[in-house]
Amino acid sequence: MIIKSASFVTSSPSIHQCPATKKPEFGFIGRSNVGKSSLINMITGRAGLAKISGNPGKTRTINHFLINESWYLVDLPGYGYAKVPVRLRISWTRSVEEFILKRHTLVCLFMLIDSRLPPQSSDLSFMEFLGTNQVPFARVFTKCDKLSDEAVKKALRVYDIEMLRSWESIPPTFLSSTVKKSGKEEILAFIEECINNFSNRL
Ligand code: GDP
Repeated sequence: MIIKSASFVTSSPSIHQCPATKKPEFGFIGRSNVGKSSLINMITGRAGLAKISGNPGKTRTINHFLINESWYLVDLPGYGYAKVPVRLRISWTRSVEEFILKRHTLVCLFMLIDSRLPPQSSDLSFMEFLGTNQVPFARVFTKCDKLSDEAVKKALRVYDIEMLRSWESIPPTFLSSTVKKSGKEEILAFIEECINNFSNRL
């Protein structure tokens, strides 16, 4: 998919203020500092696009970007470093949870994971929450340039083994690096495929 246009639309404190739309939406979420803004800027080819949502006061809102006039990229607030208990209580607004659970146009959630870290309980709990609620998601391992190819493969294996303790299958998975500019084509191709399936459903 070629990105012809990408623009910031709005920041919404809750699902009720989100744009009324029938267009497909793709969410991006992960722990603070995972590389979410960098990834969004790389995918859209617009340096600084995600920084709009980084303005003070907007960090805990749901940020919509309209891409190619046909789909929304939704930047969801990152969750903090604090250990999040199984039920995901803190550093997590109800509105985001509501968005994930109730937004009918949300086609897929990209769950960003720092490839350098061992599986984090907060991430595993979050995926558990997605699985329990049957929310489609994909994993994106970020900052892969910081590891050798072999170390990335090993990190993935470790992660899969951990997930397969409670999951029957592994979700779609992408490797990204904003330094090496890798992962963009694969993620965009996946989004395009999802959009086609979404249109066929209508
Ligand atoms: P966010 O808080 O999740 O939005 O994370 P940012 O996109 O602001 O990135 C956090 C830090 O990680 C910044 O210093 C980025 O330059 C760095 N970073 C993000 N992506 C990559 C990557 O793919 N490779 C490397 N080496 N650094 C990255």
